[in-house]
Amino acid sequence: MQVNDQGADGVAGAGSAPGPTATPNQAGSGLAGPATDIPAIRTDRVLVAMTLAENISYIGGQRNRIMAIPSLTLPEIRMADGPLGVRSQEKHSTAYPADVCVAATWSLDCAKAMGETYGKDFRAQGCHIDLGPGLNIILDPRYGRNFEYYSEDQFLTSRVITTAVQAIQAQGVLTTLKHFACNNQGTERGSYSVEIDDRSLHEIYLPGFQAAIAEGRTGCIMTAFNWFNDVSCAENSHLNNDFLRGELGFTDILMSDWTAERSFAVANGGLDLEMPTGKYMNLDDMQQAISAGKVTLATVDEKVRRILRTIISAGFLDREQKRTDIPKDNPDSAKTALEMPRQGFVLLKNHGNLLPLDPTTTRTIAVLGHHADHPLCGGGGSSIMTPFHATSIFAGLKAVYPGDKLLPVSQPIAAVELGDLGYVGPVQMELYKGNRYGGLGTKPDAVQEVAKIYVDAQTALAGNYGKDFACRWTAKIRVPSDGYYALVTSHCDGVLVDGKRIIDAWRYLGREEPEIGLARLLAGSIHDLTVEWFTAGRGDPVLRFGWQRAEAFERALEVAAKADAVVLSAGFDYYTEGEGMDRTFGIDPFQQTLLEEIPRVNPKTIVALYGGADIDCQGWLDQVAGLLHLWYPGQEGGTAVAEIISGRVNPSGKLPVTMPKRIEDHPSHPSFLNPADMAKHRAVYGEGIFVGYRGYDAKGTEPLYPFGYGLSYTTFAYAGLKLTEGSDGSVEACFSLTNTGKWAGAEVVELFVDLPAGGVPRPPQELKGFARSSCCRERPRK
Ligand code: BGC
Repeated sequence: MQVNDQGADGVAGAGSAPGPTATPNQAGSGLAGPATDIPAIRTDRVLVAMTLAENISYIGGQRNRIMAIPSLTLPEIRMADGPLGVRSQEKHSTAYPADVCVAATWSLDCAKAMGETYGKDFRAQGCHIDLGPGLNIILDPRYGRNFEYYSEDQFLTSRVITTAVQAIQAQGVLTTLKHFACNNQGTERGSYSVEIDDRSLHEIYLPGFQAAIAEGRTGCIMTAFNWFNDVSCAENSHLNNDFLRGELGFTDILMSDWTAERSFAVANGGLDLEMPTGKYMNLDDMQQAISAGKVTLATVDEKVRRILRTIISAGFLDREQKRTDIPKDNPDSAKTALEMPRQGFVLLKNHGNLLPLDPTTTRTIAVLGHHADHPLCGGGGSSIMTPFHATSIFAGLKAVYPGDKLLPVSQPIAAVELGDLGYVGPVQMELYKGNRYGGLGTKPDAVQEVAKIYVDAQTALAGNYGKDFACRWTAKIRVPSDGYYALVTSHCDGVLVDGKRIIDAWRYLGREEPEIGLARLLAGSIHDLTVEWFTAGRGDPVLRFGWQRAEAFERALEVAAKADAVVLSAGFDYYTEGEGMDRTFGIDPFQQTLLEEIPRVNPKTIVALYGGADIDCQGWLDQVAGLLHLWYPGQEGGTAVAEIISGRVNPSGKLPVTMPKRIEDHPSHPSFLNPADMAKHRAVYGEGIFVGYRGYDAKGTEPLYPFGYGLSYTTFAYAGLKLTEGSDGSVEACFSLTNTGKWAGAEVVELFVDLPAGGVPRPPQELKGFARSSCCRERPRK
């Protein structure tokens, strides 16, 4: 592992930049001896002085730390989550865009710039180890953590991750690649086992790790929650010892994901550091195992040696980690956090060249939708952090379109007052025992007629169901006047009107906000209503259900209709996409209604899309004029949206994933969360090497937007391609690239190679090179 512990402190030689609270060991002396001695010798000096008890205590974490051992002059080593910014004990830090947005820049300069300021943010907070970046392949759009990963392609992933790791570690911070290996599913994340063939593992899933170890020299790797070939990753000797240490040559710290260890086998499975505590690798258990000959002293020694050598090489014993000369709210970090979305947002549709909307001639823009007036930086889970400041889409646009040009449309549903429905005839309630709703066609345990739709503790008592039961109500309803109605439920559930699902919130346990569905209802008709609900095992059972005329939504339609254009944000967020879950491919029914209805009143609608990968655009894409993919844009996202919409910045991001027309076209569709495999706690990687575009190309399936796609306000011409073979077998591609349009702009050149036919099936083409024509912000030219 290689960490530059000099440049970051601006002083040559480790140990030469002690901070204000430096102790003798931090200044390079202490038990390990002078910083000028080689790390292996310094490691041995400490190791030889350690008791067995100290050894064992060192290989089990203490929350987000490796414990200090003052008697051995070993300082506390502090870790903080990434990869979207520093999530430490401190309340705030700069919020960068998601990794997938960094990949969408296809810019190694951007990855480097981000790594540098991001690494400095860790130093400003005194953190030694970054629990990031995430580095798994984006296999299926529905995995909740895709936004923490880079791409469906291992070549793009490898190049970007290597650059990022080098840049972060050059600041004197160790990176932790996560999650090793094949972490591509959130459902039952701690109990399913990956089944994959060896070739796919090596060709698709390992290259990113390989590059970040060999070239990036990452200091740490974190194992995954999932199992691999029936052994949990944290204790999987085949993965950790044979592949990671043996084949990939990783010699530094391998830590477990937080509580992802499953048995004492971790001790012999290649793991060095059990996090967040020594659940298995603790004093009692380890001593017993050593006495019983189940774990050798040499194994323990080797773990401690690797941890010590890594932190000594990183200079952690020789300097104060906290750099007080770097501001925590660093303007340089904010600048990088803005540059990334400028280059990483992908313009997917621009019908009739509606964009850019000239701020001098545009009279009004209606702004509404998901997180339009509240900044959304990232997805959910351990990467969530709070920025010092952030700009919403509305605020960003307001700065560019001043005065009365912006028409804010607040949340299209006003305060929720639940009126009772006009039921026609009785409401039928079916009750199902158990916490899992049986689904249509399942026989209920009881059926009752009730006056209205609700659940409270009495319902449970009356039915003697305890706290675990599910209900479905069916009723006929009539409304007093034609129009849009908001149907509102108080907890996670589903609602259907005339067979169309308008609320589908089953998966979002824990969300306490009301769920809202929109339906257009006619006074002269009787409509069918179905409401579904289950207890979710939380607290006292409760469901409130009601409706109101969606007047605010009708007003939103009026405002949108009058505007010159509409900016409508939509997609996922930290509730609906994140750690420990998988998401839907489509956007929730409430937003889907907005996406369908708003362009009906104003076709000049530009959709700004939030999400960690590809998203279903069916039902609305043809009706909207523009589509801009924001991924998760970090704290400066709103500014970047405004710059691109107004033409201050020419969009240049390209898709790091393929967007299918329908999820059924996706190569992983048959295997992802396949019910038969899930019943056996399996994730079978049935697509093999045909992941992402490799799969579409091999089958000849036309995607909605291909991998590498992205529009610009200008046009480029390529000419004179010449290939020259080097003596080392490499091939140089030379050509000229000309901006033939009216705007300055950056272009990403992507080189795909069609390999000669061999004995094994191959994808028709694979990415083997790319370059960005410019990393700098472009000033538009008319
Ligand atoms: C996540 C890791 C994270 C760790 C510490 C786990 O739940 O899977 O990615 O680094 O928590 O917060």
